Amino acid sequence: MNRLTDQEIKYLKGVGPKKAELLEKELGIQTFYDLLYFFPYKYIDRSRIYSIKEIDSTQTFIQLKGKITHFRMEGQRYKQRLVAVFTDGTGTVELVWFQGLQWVTRNYQPGREYIVFGRPAVYNNRLSFAHPEIEIEEKDDNRLYTSLQPQYSTTEKLRNNFVTSKTIHRLIGQVLAQVNTFEETLPADLIIKLRLGGLADALRNVHYPENADKLRKATYRLKFEELFYIQLNILAQKSKRQVVVKGIVFSKVGQNLNNFYNTRLGFELTEAQKRVIREIRKDMGSGKQMNRLLQGDVGSGKTLVALMAMLIALDNGYQACLMAPTELLANQHFVTISRFLDGMGISVLLLTGSTKKSEREILHEQLRSGELHILIGTHALLEDTVQFNNLGLVIIDEQHRFGVAQRARLWKKTEQLPHVLVMTATPIPRTLAMTLYGDLDVSVIDELPPGRKPVQTIHYYESKRLVLFGFMKKQIALGRQIYVVYPLIKESEKLDYVALEEGYEAVTRAFPPPEYTVVCVHGQMKPEDKESAMQLFIKGKAQIMVATTVIEVGVDIPNASVMIIENAERFGLSQLHQLRGRVGRGADQSYCILMSSYKLSHEARKRLSTLVETNDGFEIAETDLKLRGPGDIEGTQQSGIPFDLKIANLGQDGQILQFAREKALELLADDPLLEKPENGICTLQMARLVKSTEDWSVIS
Ligand code: ADP
Ligand code: MG
Repeated sequence: MNRLTDQEIKYLKGVGPKKAELLEKELGIQTFYDLLYFFPYKYIDRSRIYSIKEIDSTQTFIQLKGKITHFRMEGQRYKQRLVAVFTDGTGTVELVWFQGLQWVTRNYQPGREYIVFGRPAVYNNRLSFAHPEIEIEEKDDNRLYTSLQPQYSTTEKLRNNFVTSKTIHRLIGQVLAQVNTFEETLPADLIIKLRLGGLADALRNVHYPENADKLRKATYRLKFEELFYIQLNILAQKSKRQVVVKGIVFSKVGQNLNNFYNTRLGFELTEAQKRVIREIRKDMGSGKQMNRLLQGDVGSGKTLVALMAMLIALDNGYQACLMAPTELLANQHFVTISRFLDGMGISVLLLTGSTKKSEREILHEQLRSGELHILIGTHALLEDTVQFNNLGLVIIDEQHRFGVAQRARLWKKTEQLPHVLVMTATPIPRTLAMTLYGDLDVSVIDELPPGRKPVQTIHYYESKRLVLFGFMKKQIALGRQIYVVYPLIKESEKLDYVALEEGYEAVTRAFPPPEYTVVCVHGQMKPEDKESAMQLFIKGKAQIMVATTVIEVGVDIPNASVMIIENAERFGLSQLHQLRGRVGRGADQSYCILMSSYKLSHEARKRLSTLVETNDGFEIAETDLKLRGPGDIEGTQQSGIPFDLKIANLGQDGQILQFAREKALELLADDPLLEKPENGICTLQMARLVKSTEDWSVIS
């Protein structure tokens, strides 16, 4: 970018200090550059005017040219609306307003010619346009320049201050008129080879498209560039790390692993588990530091893989640790792993917030002396007092719950960087994984241990309540246990607790004592009450547990084979999938029943049907990404993408991302430390783009 683009927008004609402040506050636009890189979120095709007689219900946004014949009011009080009858000579449609009625009648007159723009709908057998855009046909409109009209997002505050999408478009036009040379931001070689077109052309056409073809080309170039630099940034750090950081070499497969494998395991590893262990062993023996992401659905056997990796560390004389996001999970890992290793002469301890001071002291001591082999815990492991003797492997479970900075602290504990294995049961769509964890190598366990039956998922509306109770009775008669889960959302917490309470009462009425025992568990209970209720269920004394999502993480009760999710439409897709993962752990056929009201938004319907149709966590994650957009995907906020995506969309641009990644890899293969002069432009550009000052090179 040349200097002119660093100019502040308050120097732009028609902006002034007040608007400038508003644009910065609301949209983060401060400079000419920011404006140029504030891209439209959509384009409206105004290349053609439709006639009313050709409208059918499949059209989305169209424009008509004609006259209003008259206005009339319809409906009572709150439901009052203003209707204008509009004709173009081929037929009539109704234009409808529910708000701003006075403004409309004041500004539009019957008999004048207007261009009406909106989305046709059929209402009471008549074609209507709700809150259409109306314009007078202007000869000097920029529509003459382009028929593809870009739409920019604004905020209510901006609109109240007369900064609309059109205003922004006009301001960008001014900037484009003032800046006449753009410093190229991609290596010339790449532009030529990939026929990407120059930056200036791309910026002009993305805001003022000459035609659809040029717009497509401009958008492609800008998306490619954005994704290319994200990938190059991540991959360059990895490349640098591989050159600079020496990994501990675990060359031995020793006694512990062999012992465990031959005498403790008691079942065959799945092919996927074997493959992943091979991948891990290869990393740990390579002389490079392992940075690996292990993905696999709940119950796919990740913990076991982690345990075996830890044994390899032990066999080579190093300590290992495992960090889990909650105390419950840490506890569970501790119990499982201790049981597996019982009698093998390996010492394992647990460190969480509730570890007593006296126990801590002993633990710290043993950790420093090297007497302690495996430490399992929560983020309590990150405290400064926790000092290892020789930490060789760090395993992090449920990665997305930890912040990046938090994880970095584990690394600082040792002289030599330990190997790192990050496990996640939240399948991350490929595009997001490439972006968030693009420098981690990825292993996937895509196979469940044998004998598991896929969970059967059913969606019931409220009217099936009695059928549901009947089904529950049958399952209990078969000896199964049942979860009934209610949503708990901060914004509606009070009401949610009321719903939980009512639900609990209804279930207790349908399943009365002494024949049945129903427990209720939620976050507002006293810990000891909660614990005793949980224990009743864990020991099989209660058949039904009514709960909020507290059980989402960690509970593992093979005999509980039915999961009923109330108000399922209020849960996110990946959360539903996680909840469903709580059942299907034993040998019995398991069920997940999604209860919902009839009133479902399009997206909620899609979420529920996706869950009914598939058990594949990755497919679910992809759908989730498409439905919600990457910003909302659980965990991305915390894991913190160190950049904003201005034009690319991870839900849609997977192919461009993949391609950009390949190009970045090619570039680094040729120039690992980006030292060649022709690649200087890349280093410069990356420095401009990365807003985060954190050192990302040491961790993911
Ligand atoms: P994850 O950590 O992926 O949720 P776990 O490692 O906790 O999965 O495994 C879930 C359950 O399946 C555990 O009881 C574990 O012992 C068992 N398991 C793991 N691998 C196998 C296998 N290959 N065959 C049979 N059971 C297995
Ligand atoms: Mg697990």
